[in-house]
Amino acid sequence: MSKREDVRDDDRDPLDPAPQVPSEIPAGLDRRKFIMRSAVISAAAVMNGCTRSETERTAPPPAPASEAERVQGLAPKPAVPLSADLDVVKKEKGPVMTTVDEFYKVGPGPSSSHTIGPMRITYDFYQRAAKLPADKLAKATKLQVNLFGSLSATGKGHGTERAALAGLVGKEPATVDPKFLDGLRDKPDQVFPVKLGDKSIDVSLKDVIYDATKGDFKHPNTMTVKLLAGNDVLLEQEYYSVGGGFIEWKGYTPPKKNQPKYPFATMKELRAHADNNKTTIAKIMLANEMSIAGRSEEEVNAFVDKIINAMVATVKSGLAMPEDDVLPGPIKLHSKAASVYKRALDDKYESDRGIGALSAFALAASEENGRGHLVITAPTGGSAGVMPSLVYGLLEVRKVDRQKIRDGMLAAAAVGYLCKHHATLSAAEGGCQAEIGVASSMAAALTATAYDAPSLVVENAAESALEHHLGMTCDPVAGYVQVPCIERCAFGAVKAWTAYGIASNEIASRHRVNFDETVTALAQTAKDMNSKYKETSEAGLAQSVVLC
Ligand code: SF4
Repeated sequence: MSKREDVRDDDRDPLDPAPQVPSEIPAGLDRRKFIMRSAVISAAAVMNGCTRSETERTAPPPAPASEAERVQGLAPKPAVPLSADLDVVKKEKGPVMTTVDEFYKVGPGPSSSHTIGPMRITYDFYQRAAKLPADKLAKATKLQVNLFGSLSATGKGHGTERAALAGLVGKEPATVDPKFLDGLRDKPDQVFPVKLGDKSIDVSLKDVIYDATKGDFKHPNTMTVKLLAGNDVLLEQEYYSVGGGFIEWKGYTPPKKNQPKYPFATMKELRAHADNNKTTIAKIMLANEMSIAGRSEEEVNAFVDKIINAMVATVKSGLAMPEDDVLPGPIKLHSKAASVYKRALDDKYESDRGIGALSAFALAASEENGRGHLVITAPTGGSAGVMPSLVYGLLEVRKVDRQKIRDGMLAAAAVGYLCKHHATLSAAEGGCQAEIGVASSMAAALTATAYDAPSLVVENAAESALEHHLGMTCDPVAGYVQVPCIERCAFGAVKAWTAYGIASNEIASRHRVNFDETVTALAQTAKDMNSKYKETSEAGLAQSVVLC
């Protein structure tokens, strides 16, 4: 008998994990897996104050669920697999080629993949249809949009049908008047003439169809747009809203671009360029923007300024909303940005005032998103409160020099590009970690850069903010990007600040986890996450919160 075996359960020290670990390796497990499993069991036991029986401790891992169990809902459903020929999947290889004007997009909330993406898609189709020969257009009788997968499951809560119709009648996301979308919500029977050459076709919300939520789709956010002549199809295109307002279609090939001056596919490579050239991540990103897109520094700055100004504007308009404003939808959620801001300013301690104000800025921009007003994808609509909160706080409150904010926007973009390149920005693919988690990581990089932190600190701050969002699910109540999304933006902003606080105060070289490792974990967690937690509103808060 070993020393351990003669200790009775009630005599054990609850903080000593050793008694929980079986000494025999069960059949079917290799040593490494066994040690890891035992460590997890021990940690869980210590945290929960629970112990497991010998039978439970030595049991082999559970067998995969049978199809019958899945059908009965007794086991997790597998996540919707992404088609390997989507560019968003293929781009996992090669250098990052994304540019700021593709990444930061202005458009109507509340969701980049459910409003901005679908609107860009129908606007794209409208332009294609307008180019058809006159004799073909003369036969056209109808335009029809079919929404599938997550677009169908939660599209109603996002106003996807209104965004899709707006694109179809020739409105662009960046310039659409939000009042047009509000008008569609208030008077859903409106009919609009769409001019295609000499032909005019009437369209209304009835032409946007919520179709199958489950099926063999290439992407969870799939939609088709058709131009019909009676039952004959004159033009049809299948599209995918792949996250962050990015779109693809069947047969999509990415636009030809110039090579980046400093090619990188990982944070390690990006930082090596910065460090070897004795410059910053922001300057490397600027050089790449100029070489990939063929733009001058002034042109890149002008675009980044436009985005900074739009972020400041969204916080200002959110703070200016009356305290008793109620957001659209069945939740009847009261806006609280203005109250939180006003009361935070009266807090006794400066740190409390700072945290309260930062939260209020994020709430303000996120509530604007909930209203369907114009927001900026950074990286998505659901997370549209996080980056503006830090931009507003640094620029308008702390009066940090605008050039530092521009640099921060470029470093933040690098973080977002890498997450898109190796993981995802789409909640339908990866849950909320891919939205708020990436936004928080970007905001941490922005803050560190704005305060002239060395490249390693920028990386560490971004890593830390992302790490502490891993596993976060997407479960919007009633399919509306309000609960938990609006408060989640405030938490994302505060976590970004915390991440910068830790990264700038720790000994940077001792930071144990690097950014690339955390992005790998983000991708793996996204793959393993149950599909119910990927913007379907089938589980989590979406199920537990009772609306009355
Ligand atoms: S829970 Fe997160 S990912 Fe899901 S809609 Fe809300 S903000 Fe977006």
